[in-house]
Amino acid sequence: MALKDLDLPKTQRAIVFPARGQAEVREVDVPRFFDDDGPWNVVLRPLAVGRCPSDTASCEEEFPPGFRLPSATQPVVPGHEQVVEVVGASVAAQRAGIEVGGWYVYDINIGCGEPDCYPCAVQKRPGIDCSKGTLFQGIGAANESWVLRQTGLRHVPGSYVYDPVERRGGIMVGRHTQLLPLDRSRLRGEADLAVLTQADALACAFMAIRGVAKLHAWEEGFRPALFLIGGGGRIAYWLAEAALAERGRDGVDLFLADVDADRLAMTAERLGLPQGNTYLVDPDDPDAFSTAAIRRGLAILEKGRAFNLILDAAGHKYVGAAATNRMFLEKVLDRNGTYITTAHGGIPGVEAGAFETVFANQRFAGALSPHRYIPRAIAYLQANISRYAPHMVITHRELDDSLAQKVRIAGKDPDIGRGANTYIAMWHRDPTWTQRSPDGGTTR
Ligand SMILES: [Zn+2]
Ligand SMILES: [Zn+2]
Repeated sequence: MALKDLDLPKTQRAIVFPARGQAEVREVDVPRFFDDDGPWNVVLRPLAVGRCPSDTASCEEEFPPGFRLPSATQPVVPGHEQVVEVVGASVAAQRAGIEVGGWYVYDINIGCGEPDCYPCAVQKRPGIDCSKGTLFQGIGAANESWVLRQTGLRHVPGSYVYDPVERRGGIMVGRHTQLLPLDRSRLRGEADLAVLTQADALACAFMAIRGVAKLHAWEEGFRPALFLIGGGGRIAYWLAEAALAERGRDGVDLFLADVDADRLAMTAERLGLPQGNTYLVDPDDPDAFSTAAIRRGLAILEKGRAFNLILDAAGHKYVGAAATNRMFLEKVLDRNGTYITTAHGGIPGVEAGAFETVFANQRFAGALSPHRYIPRAIAYLQANISRYAPHMVITHRELDDSLAQKVRIAGKDPDIGRGANTYIAMWHRDPTWTQRSPDGGTTR
């Protein structure tokens, strides 16, 4: 059947960011910019959608200058970490192996795919490498012109869409090149779908860990590398998992720092970290990231050693330029170390690295854009799925105002992102999926 002949509802419900700092649930038109002969050639139904700080960042326009967010000209439908079912696929998509009814992780890192783009057309490196600027579907585009040309839209809607009649996920339009297959036989229940939405976040973590692994002397492995992860939330958790997966338990000593005692303890326990590897940060202490304070907080840290890698997943609310500069200058970070931030806009005011990056070998980097490692992340999540589901997932049976409320206040309310909320994922009920996990299913 041609895509244009699909029987789709006219409208659906969606979370919408109508303007900076605002979120609401609205009735919206079902998108119909799919094209049997063009690149936007699959119609998808989200089965599960993860909530991510990047949603909030796009709502608050926290991304760096030059990254165009469309909310000034067009409301945003967010949602960028999803497992989807294929509702319709063009002939070309089906010839490429996409199955109608199949379940996939959908990768939102999209390049133009046009014939005059060398990375897209010749090197087959889509997404972040596109010469015309990447589209992060559901978030925004680095350059709107090709997005507008292909879709007629400045913002390509994401996966926070819901069909209130059928009580399941709504409709989103995508490109078949972004679909990565799941092994459906390995999923035990609905909660496992929510776990697989984490492929995007875990891929970011693999990107960070593998990227620096190539550069470092500690690859020689004569003793464990020392990693300090700032934050005890979801991204910190996946960074730690990726570090353990890549280095092995004998290859890395992981230390966690966070301002929240409960979250710190919970995440350390889930990771199986030894006692004494956590540092409870006092956010009111201006010297919290001095060498002395960190050594006092981490009493088992070997004397004289500095961290090979510092991964900041706490956000610049807690780890601002002053703290970061200090970790460079006071050699909390090793002279050959790397500092990676996951803050969306980087850390304005970081300057201490200038001398060090020339005369020593310190590096400061960002860690977003995960597309190269999404297949690895999917394989890892599927292989380890019994460790995750369903205890770490809170599910929501439908889009409701309380979720919009969560999106709106996430990042401002200290209780959001705490405890079990750290692993929040939204789940769209699929009536055809009735199998339950052994202990009775989802948390809520
Ligand atoms: Zn995300
Ligand atoms: Zn391109």
